[in-house]
Amino acid sequence: MRSTTIPFFISHQGCPHTCVFCDQRLISGAEGALPTTGQIEERIELWRATSENRPLEVAFFGGTFTALPKETQAKLLMPLQPLLDNGTLASVRISTRPDCIDAEQVAWLSKLGVRTIELGVQSMDDAVLASSGRGHLASASLSAIGCIKKLGVNLGVQLMPGLPGDTPVSSLHSLEQVIAAGADFLRIYPTVVLRGTELARRYLSGDFIPLSLGRGVSLCKLLLQRAMQAGVPVIRIGLQAEKGLDAEHVLAGCWHPALGQLVRSQMYSDLLWRFIPSGRSVTVSCHPTRLSDLVGMNRSNLLSQTGRGVQTKVALDATLHKEELKIKIEDKTAIYSIINDITYSIHEV
Ligand code: SF4
Repeated sequence: MRSTTIPFFISHQGCPHTCVFCDQRLISGAEGALPTTGQIEERIELWRATSENRPLEVAFFGGTFTALPKETQAKLLMPLQPLLDNGTLASVRISTRPDCIDAEQVAWLSKLGVRTIELGVQSMDDAVLASSGRGHLASASLSAIGCIKKLGVNLGVQLMPGLPGDTPVSSLHSLEQVIAAGADFLRIYPTVVLRGTELARRYLSGDFIPLSLGRGVSLCKLLLQRAMQAGVPVIRIGLQAEKGLDAEHVLAGCWHPALGQLVRSQMYSDLLWRFIPSGRSVTVSCHPTRLSDLVGMNRSNLLSQTGRGVQTKVALDATLHKEELKIKIEDKTAIYSIINDITYSIHEV
């Protein structure tokens, strides 16, 4: 059964760095105060009441959890212990930087119910990390991943294609390296330029050219497909559109409020273009959860087929995998998958 995540945004708390792209107050949509014990208990109770008995997970997102003073980390985790013991809570998730966690901390966190650690790796290229002001090397990420995996804690990795000095090739290498090192799931956040950051200053002075939306989507298609081929789920593409993170605050870069849907939807469109000849009448079936991806935003996928003389009837088929489409052309039916039946090349990005 899928768990329900109860989020607490701890914003810039605990982070001693200023990465060039970061305005954590905007990204988290919160101003940065740590929740009190009372607020934690109150929110858990609120979510529990509507969770329909799904397992509950508390997640401390944003900031750098393990850079907080140990007493502060304990203050956040201790109120959860009775709830973990009596089964109200199933697990805890935290996020942190690779250079702020070691084997001893992972063991301590694990004892206190932390089952998932998300690492903001961003890139596995030392030059990209340096240009982005990250303050650590890729070796720190490998070492953190090793500690987390060794203790059997679930590992999420966040990557940011399009940072200063990054190329599609280095983005792909970063993805391949974290998958090889054992990432259990990924988040892909193409770089956006937020107002007021060092990256915005570089962009406005012409020292940084961000990924456009089009190039970002092309790169994400490639990265998502590689992750799917490796069997590693990508649980999110693109920063969440929230209060404080909108067109007004995003100066440039690969930004769209539903970037993940845009990427998947274009992959289905690529399948349609690849396997349906112009001017035919077809029936295309998809898994029920993928209908909006197949149809495309504002029916764009179907309209683009109409433009080449294809009449498309859409149907649902729960026996298909989510990545598959069944295409029926006259009396011939075939199943195609966005994982293996289209090829994305690094040179097309
Ligand atoms: S480490 Fe994270 S919170 Fe700190 S400045 Fe960088 S991106 Fe922001």
